[in-house]
Amino acid sequence: MNALEHQLHYPLGDALPAPGTVLEVAPGVRWVRMGLPFALDHINLWLLRDRLDGREGWAIVDCGIANDATRAAWEQVFAQALDGLPVLRVIVTHMHPDHIGNAAWLCERWDCALWISATDWNAARMATLSTTGYGGDSAAAHFARHGLADPESLAKVRQRSNYYASMVPAVPARFRRLLDGGVLRVGAHDWHCHVGYGHAPEHIALHQPELGVLISGDMVLPRISTNVSVIDIEPEADPLTLYLASIARMRKLPADTLVLPAHGRPFTGLHTRIDQLQAHHDERFAEVIAACTARPTSAAELLPVLFKRALDLHQTTFAMGEAIAHLHALWFAGRLERRLGDDGVLRFAA
Ligand SMILES: [Zn+2]
Repeated sequence: MNALEHQLHYPLGDALPAPGTVLEVAPGVRWVRMGLPFALDHINLWLLRDRLDGREGWAIVDCGIANDATRAAWEQVFAQALDGLPVLRVIVTHMHPDHIGNAAWLCERWDCALWISATDWNAARMATLSTTGYGGDSAAAHFARHGLADPESLAKVRQRSNYYASMVPAVPARFRRLLDGGVLRVGAHDWHCHVGYGHAPEHIALHQPELGVLISGDMVLPRISTNVSVIDIEPEADPLTLYLASIARMRKLPADTLVLPAHGRPFTGLHTRIDQLQAHHDERFAEVIAACTARPTSAAELLPVLFKRALDLHQTTFAMGEAIAHLHALWFAGRLERRLGDDGVLRFAA
């Protein structure tokens, strides 16, 4: 949790849209909130007043996971909150299940197209069609190589081979491509695409200058730091360096931008939040350096250093990915050396 949250400003106060209802946050921009079956218990989705091919309607930004409760909430929104107009397109910021889960259902329900970055469309298609990739034996081997030794945890990771597909049963077979620097006309407004790396393969945030609104997806969140993980399919990646460079580029957006995050409440204080996130990771880097100076340290051995609380399996897999991301950022920067032990575990030394 962000201990400096009081430095941010929440212009809407404590107002939240009730399930199945909407709250207008800017002219033609409506906020929808859906439940999630995780510790992170909700996601924010957005409706943008749209006009496409001569038809009036709405664009949906992000979809919620594919379960009955979310689809029922969507039906309530369709019945009550679209002013009797149809959905004309589905825009997805990135390929994670809470964002793309219902995309295929929504596109079919409204006979409309999916707009997403090419890399995230491909990654989502691969993850949902494959039985390996985001779990299973490959993920277990990846975590074991970074020191996760508990047989019970590893067995559970192995069993989770269909984890992604369970929340994203289908991804539309075709898409319209969103690209960094691209401009998307939605109704009366141009939305500018800002790519972000490190959290997802090619995350697209959407900025509307006249309204002063940024749909930040998961790249900038007010209360929690964005998950940045090294995962098994790209085991030598350096996503944290990419993530920090990506949020640094968002500083060129105006300081008074109203940020519409995927989790938490709409806030102002974008530059302050970027400062906080950079300081947060600098503190984590200092802790990692201290641990690796004391003795060569694996990612698993860093968990109690970086996460000072008990973790369940879901949190442990995220925490392992994040610990490796911190180690790799320092390793790629030349501040840590990597050693492969006789036990097959990678450890890092300052
Ligand atoms: Zn995400």
